Amino acid sequence: MQKDQLLEYFGCQCCFCNVEIDRKTLSQDHLIPMNKTHLGLHAWGNVVPCCQRCNNEKQQKPWQVFIEEKAHIDDVERRKSLINSFVGDMRYDPALSLHKYADSLYEDVGAVATTLINLRYKQAEEAIKLLMTSNL
Ligand SMILES: [Zn+2]
Repeated sequence: MQKDQLLEYFGCQCCFCNVEIDRKTLSQDHLIPMNKTHLGLHAWGNVVPCCQRCNNEKQQKPWQVFIEEKAHIDDVERRKSLINSFVGDMRYDPALSLHKYADSLYEDVGAVATTLINLRYKQAEEAIKLLMTSNL
């Protein structure tokens, strides 16, 4: 999906507050924040078009809460269902649990780091040995 299609899906409006946006003013928000705690993905269905202001204001707030602050009271439910159908159409699964992958990734990275450190240590030891024998 391209930026234009993303804009079109939401009628060229910020998905939270309804303000008109175009390619130039388009900002992209992650419904589920991309960080170590929330593990949202930079993937269609999690990326939604919004205005710069909403992007700055939303931060880590759940979008369902944020939209109630931003959208007109009569429009909240319509906005929510538009976002929900977008997530569905893009087949993004908000319940997808990446934590088990993330946890094992951190373990693997730790093991790799230890191996590299040990390797460097051995190389340093050998370099020192060589240096000492050449000084004899
Ligand atoms: Zn907005």
